[in-house]
Amino acid sequence: MFRPVCKHAARQLARPSRSAAVGKRHLHTPVPFDWKDPLGANNMFSEDELAISETAESYCQDRMLPRVLEAYRNENFDRKILEEMGELGLLGATIQGYGCAGVSSVASGLITRAVERVDSGYRSGYSVQSALVMGGIEEFGTEEMKEKYLPDMAKGKMLGCFGLTEPNHGSDPGSIETIAKPHPSKKGHYSLSGSKTWITNSPIADLLLVWAKLGSTGKIRGFVIERDQCPPGTLETPPIKNKNGLRASITGMIQLDQCPVPEANMFPDVEGLKGPFSCLNSARYGIAWGTMGALEDCIARAREYALERKQFKGNPIAKYQLVQKKLADATTDAAYGILAATQVGRLKDEGKAAPEMVSMIKRQNCDRALVNARALQEVFGGNAVSDEYGIGRHVANLFVTQTYEGQSDIHSLILGRTITGIQAFY
Ligand SMILES: Cc1cc2nc3c(=O)[nH]c(=O)nc-3n(C[C@H](O)[C@H](O)[C@H](O)COP(=O)(O)OP(=O)(O)OC[C@H]3O[C@@H](n4cnc5c(N)ncnc54)[C@H](O)[C@@H]3O)c2cc1C
Repeated sequence: MFRPVCKHAARQLARPSRSAAVGKRHLHTPVPFDWKDPLGANNMFSEDELAISETAESYCQDRMLPRVLEAYRNENFDRKILEEMGELGLLGATIQGYGCAGVSSVASGLITRAVERVDSGYRSGYSVQSALVMGGIEEFGTEEMKEKYLPDMAKGKMLGCFGLTEPNHGSDPGSIETIAKPHPSKKGHYSLSGSKTWITNSPIADLLLVWAKLGSTGKIRGFVIERDQCPPGTLETPPIKNKNGLRASITGMIQLDQCPVPEANMFPDVEGLKGPFSCLNSARYGIAWGTMGALEDCIARAREYALERKQFKGNPIAKYQLVQKKLADATTDAAYGILAATQVGRLKDEGKAAPEMVSMIKRQNCDRALVNARALQEVFGGNAVSDEYGIGRHVANLFVTQTYEGQSDIHSLILGRTITGIQAFY
């Protein structure tokens, strides 16, 4: 699927053209248009990035794809998937050291795209582990935390979840109510109380990164909670069942009732929204890539269906202009989305990516993926309703990607604030 177009194109350009051979003005041999890579994005990736992408795509197509239908039907996330990804070095891949691969942000984007080409739920489980929790520990944790948790997390043997959203506070995390106070009986410990909801991986997480307000300052702080260190009754993580999207991921609550957490498990130097927002920034960057993978899968499925399905005088429906327009719109948006994500990834690696850039690509790519997936769903007619065609699953999933990690309208407000200098949140 990810043919190294750059090598191919370089060979073509190096070969003398026929007109040059007869002494006329040199003409480049035209590079054929590839609907899978319309703007030649593969030319922008290094050999290493293409190799990583191929590894991820092969794993996802060969090992993940065969499981997704049953996982989605039964709302059954197989945690072995993260172990398998760990064996391939795909978890926390941008982190240097601690058993992680230390690849570029673009390479990690390509991994994310490969995973979400299969399913946004699998990508959610992967992103929470890699970007939100491992990334958070790497950025804000102490050296002890990094050495203790990151190697096992990189192998997928220890799973993490990220608890920010609460039942009464989603888009406005500055108002969270979960509180950390000195523990009344356990010296050197905080006591955490409060409730988090819609938390990916929470029912199976070994490590819970929870954001709570410190009672003494009222400032948000990050706490790493080890499930097996919590006394009975202080931590519950009930699953939220019967979702109508992202069913191949596992989602739940985090209920904390005077849960003792060692003082050493609080991120030492970061306070306020900077902590969670910095982690979210990395995950949102990944979502911008991932949703393009889901959209590309919708395009491939719709194209194949349209070429096979015949209506009116035995014509394939791909012959009709309205169907072609849907494919043209979606393919254009996917191509633009990949280029934009690549550009932000390059800037990220140079330390030049502003959070608003990430808001822009997260919002745009999620919105365009959802709009186009809904339009392509129409190509399947009644068969769109059967889960075996895969398109309905992507549509339901893409609604969630547009909603979580900052609903699209909230990202509009972030962009609006930076464009006008006036904030419109309240
Ligand atoms: C499957 C799933 C997995 C998730 N995983 C995680 C996770 O792992 N960790 C985590 O912490 N959270 C997670 N979330 C939570 C997610 O991030 C929140 O649902 C999201 O932030 C929106 O918050 P909310 O649901 O409370 O909606 P609300 O904040 O109530 O928003 C509802 C609507 O009102 C709009 N709105 C709100 N305020 C304004 C405003 N000022 N101006 C204009 N419009 C506004 C929003 O755009 C939205 O359309 C997950 C959610 C889902 C569905």
